[in-house]
Amino acid sequence: MATHTPGPDPRDGGDFDYTGGEVERPDLVDALDRRVDGDVRFDEYSRRMYATDASAYEVTPIGVVVPASTADVAAVHEYCFEEGIPVLPRGGGTSLAGQTVNEAVVLDLTGEMDAILDTDPDARTARVQAGAYVGDLTPRSRSTG
Ligand SMILES: Cc1cc2nc3c(=O)[nH]c(=O)nc-3n(C[C@H](O)[C@H](O)[C@H](O)COP(=O)(O)OP(=O)(O)OC[C@H]3O[C@@H](n4cnc5c(N)ncnc54)[C@H](O)[C@@H]3O)c2cc1C
Repeated sequence: MATHTPGPDPRDGGDFDYTGGEVERPDLVDALDRRVDGDVRFDEYSRRMYATDASAYEVTPIGVVVPASTADVAAVHEYCFEEGIPVLPRGGGTSLAGQTVNEAVVLDLTGEMDAILDTDPDARTARVQAGAYVGDLTPRSRSTG
């Protein structure tokens, strides 16, 4: 029978400490705050809010950023990549296998990046931001003709 050997943890060598659910990098909050216009939420309440999704898993994230723009998304990725900190984007959190919970900086795209930019029902195309709700999109996708 084949056995699975885990590879190296990609977080090894990252310039951050995260042990026992506590963030040991207080400057991380300030570093992210300086780089984004959106909300940076590292308080206990917010972290617990984002510790679950529609699955049975529960993992408290390092912190949460609610980006206001694609520039914010890029800034978080750039900084966290440099520091070796995992980033986990999240939409509605309805995935069922724990995909949106982890020890990472969670990006909540539904907060301010939920715009429906344009729809063309006849061509069956739509341009949306990553956090758009399908419930908002569906009525605008119906052809009037
Ligand atoms: C009651 C119920 C019924 C369901 N029925 C169906 C069904 O009928 N058919 C079906 O296909 N699914 C179904 N699902 C599953 C779920 O709805 C889908 O998985 C859904 O598409 C997930 O969308 P989300 O926005 O909630 O993504 P999330 O759960 O927030 O994220 C899903 C994954 O995508 C990643 N991700 C999210 N946003 C981004 C981004 N901007 N950039 C990069 N990665 C990103 C996340 O990191 C995660 O890995 C159901 C779920 C529930 C709870």
